This record gives sequence, C-alpha cells and structure tokens, in this order.
Amino acid sequence: MSSILVIGGGFAGVWAAAGAIRARQEAGAAEDAVTVTLIGAADDLAIRPRLYEDDPQGKRVALDRVLGPIGVRRIPGIVTGIDTEARTVSALGRDGSALELSYDRLVLASGSRVLTPLVEGAEHLFDVDTLPAAAALESHVSRLGTVAGGDERFTAVVIGAGFTGLEVVTELPARLRAVAGDRPVRVVLVERADTVGPELGPGPRPEILAALEHAGVELALNVSLQSVDRERAVLSDGTVIPTRTVVWTAGMRASALTELIPGTRDAIGRLEVDEHLRVVGVDGVYAAGDTAAAVAEGGHVVMQSCQHAVPQGKLAGANVGADVLGLPLVPFAPNPYVTCLSLGPYGAVLTTGWDRTVAQTGDEAKKLKHTINSEWIYPPIDDAGAILTLADHRTTWPTEAVQSVSA
Ligand SMILES: Cc1cc2nc3c(=O)[nH]c(=O)nc-3n(C[C@H](O)[C@H](O)[C@H](O)COP(=O)(O)OP(=O)(O)OC[C@H]3O[C@@H](n4cnc5c(N)ncnc54)[C@H](O)[C@@H]3O)c2cc1C
Repeated sequence: MSSILVIGGGFAGVWAAAGAIRARQEAGAAEDAVTVTLIGAADDLAIRPRLYEDDPQGKRVALDRVLGPIGVRRIPGIVTGIDTEARTVSALGRDGSALELSYDRLVLASGSRVLTPLVEGAEHLFDVDTLPAAAALESHVSRLGTVAGGDERFTAVVIGAGFTGLEVVTELPARLRAVAGDRPVRVVLVERADTVGPELGPGPRPEILAALEHAGVELALNVSLQSVDRERAVLSDGTVIPTRTVVWTAGMRASALTELIPGTRDAIGRLEVDEHLRVVGVDGVYAAGDTAAAVAEGGHVVMQSCQHAVPQGKLAGANVGADVLGLPLVPFAPNPYVTCLSLGPYGAVLTTGWDRTVAQTGDEAKKLKHTINSEWIYPPIDDAGAILTLADHRTTWPTEAVQSVSA
C-alpha cells in the first residue's frame, strides 16, 4: 500500500487529492493500493478570488462535499513540521492532539499569505486575504454608520495598486455609500510605484485609470504607508488621512511550510519544482499552487493565482498517483495565461498573454469575470463522477471563450 499526503485544502490541494484518486482509478489499481489523505487547517475551500466582494463569509465550499464522495480521507489540523528524510509530517489536530502522519509521496499545497508590513500600528490594518479577514472588514464597514464620529468614518485607504488592491478599491466606494447615506465618501489608493498596476504593464492601464476615476478614487502615488492607528493613516510624505479603514493588499508570500522543505526557494518563498512539479532535489515531495515556482508556457514562471493553482493541483495529483504506481509522469502544460480584473461598477478588463494585451473591457469583461468567479473556480460537490471528470489534468479552464475573444 502507498500513501499520498496532501497538505492544504485550497484550490491546489483539493485538485491534487482528486487528481491522485483519478490516477489510481485510471490505472485500475485497487482502492487500498493507494490511499489519499488531505490535511488542512480549514473545513472549507475558501474562494479567495472572491474575497473582495460582498458577503465574503459565503465564499466557501465544504471540503467534505468534494473530498468525501471520492474517498479522500480528510484530517483537520495545522501542520507544524515536515521531515523529508523520515517522510513524516507532524501536526496539531483540531482537538489539540499531536499528530504524526507518514507518507510515500507528499504534495505541499499550503498556499500563500499577504505579507504583514512592519509599520507602526499594523494591527489596525484590514485585509481580504482570508475568509475571517474579509469578513472582519465587511463587518467593520457595515457598522461605520452607527459608530460615533464624523465624516472620516466614510473614508477608506487601500494600500497597494496591484490585482487585489484594484479589485478592492473599486468596490469600496459603493460599500461605503451604502452606510454613509448622504454624507461624503472618500477612497484613497496608495501605491509606492509611480503608477497603478505596476506589475500589470501598460496594456490595461487606461481601463484601470478610467475605472478609478469613475469610482471617484483618489490616487496617492510614489508613497507608502508609514503608520496607522484607529483614526488615521500617515503616509511616507507626511500626508495624514483621517480614516477608520485602512486595507493592506501588497505583497504575497508562499506559506512558511516551504521553509521546512530543503529545496531552493524564489524571492517570494516558492519552491523550485521540475516540469512534473517535483520539488527539485527532494525525493518524494511535490509542490503545487502558491507554494510552487512552476514554469508555464514560454518559460514564464506561474503567477500565484487560482488560474495556475488548479491545473498544478490536478497535475501534481496525477503525477504522485503515477509515481507510486510506477507509471510515467506528465509534464505541466497550463492553458495560455489570461487575466480578468474586476474594476467595480465600471466593469472589468480581460487581457491575454504575458504582455497583457487587452481583449475585452466594460460589461462584457465583467460578465466573464462573473462566470469565472461564480462557476469556473468552484469544484462540483456531492458527485464523485463530476469531481473525478474535472480532476483530469487534461481538462483545464473552459478558456475557448477567452481565446475566441482574443482571436
Ligand atoms: C482577494 C484576492 C483576489 C484574488 N483574485 C484572483 C483572481 O482574480 N484570479 C486568480 O487566478 N487568482 C486570484 N487570487 C489568488 C488565488 O486565490 C490564489 O492564488 C489561490 O487561492 C492559491 O491556491 P492554493 O491552493 O495554492 O493556496 P490557498 O488558496 O492559499 O490554500 C492553501 C490552504 O492551505 C492551508 N494551510 C496553510 N498552512 C497550513 C498549515 N500549516 N497546516 C494546514 N493547512 C495549512 C490553508 O488554510 C488553505 O486552506 C486572489 C486572491 C485574493 C486573496
């Protein structure tokens, strides 16, 4: 009997577990020949790409409804140690017990976290990185109309004009207006570069700027956050913004568990993996999703994105399954890269390729974003056949729609 252990119940981990079950099934191996276990801190798959939206609490899928029907054993627990020599993982169980799990093959899919900045008052910052954090922001905003104070209650500051910052900042004016009534609303976007969306390139920038203007967002470029407290944000140029709401969105880093694997890591902590998603130089360990610096098409390294985490998960699952069964491994080959960025009530912008050529804008792109967010990124539930069909690593995103737009 061989045991496959997956760490993390996010997009990569869920699909790695399902991909491994599918590989076993395709090979015609007996169920007890290969067991698949997933250990994760949460009971739900958090739909992180939707956490900038309303009702973040609802953006989740119960892991048992995906993993249960396909026979993946799930252990709720926080992994605290990985010994790649002994091939064991230690963890803290939900009831506080110490767990030790052994594996023949490990998939590290423990994701990423936004980096907390080293600024004075960082404990007052909000973020939308996790379900609890996004729920805390929503609850805070919903109460602003009833707490004591002046108009500064309806001022929000968003730090970072990258993907997440832009999606959050274009939603906030409407959310603040809903609680402010006829009092003035102010939203400021702070970016330390000299332009918005620095990593998005010049292609989508005109759309982004138009959306920010449409939403009435003020820009503070070439500055960073210096300090924050309950009533103000202070910027590096000395500007003081009276506000109760500062949302931090800058900088993602791979899970700290990557540091327990004796491999090479990139600048954001992701492990170097080969074309089969095996961690280079570490026997029996694969990485997928935000923990893995996998190479996508054209030599580009994947983005920390759901778009890449799902196909990496499926492929890592297929390969760990094949590996323990002595079958050939398959190289990672994701669909061509696209980006669909939500821009609040203004719409969205769809780009194709790594140079981010604009393919669609406005309501049309927003409709696509809605389909991606409400359909494509959700795994099927309660239906083993549907889950295992979609777990096929050859089945990727239904991006024909996107390709036809850009053709
Ligand atoms: C606001 C926001 C908007 C986004 N928008 C987009 C978008 O438009 N398009 C896109 O493609 N991507 C988007 N992303 C990025 C995307 O959500 C991530 O890249 C994706 O979730 C990565 O999946 P993952 O499975 O690798 O990791 P995660 O989703 O981070 O899942 C990791 C899992 O591992 C668990 N875990 C971590 N440490 C431990 C431990 N020690 N023990 C046990 N379990 C552990 C976590 O609890 C979690 O369940 C967005 C992210 C955010 C936050």
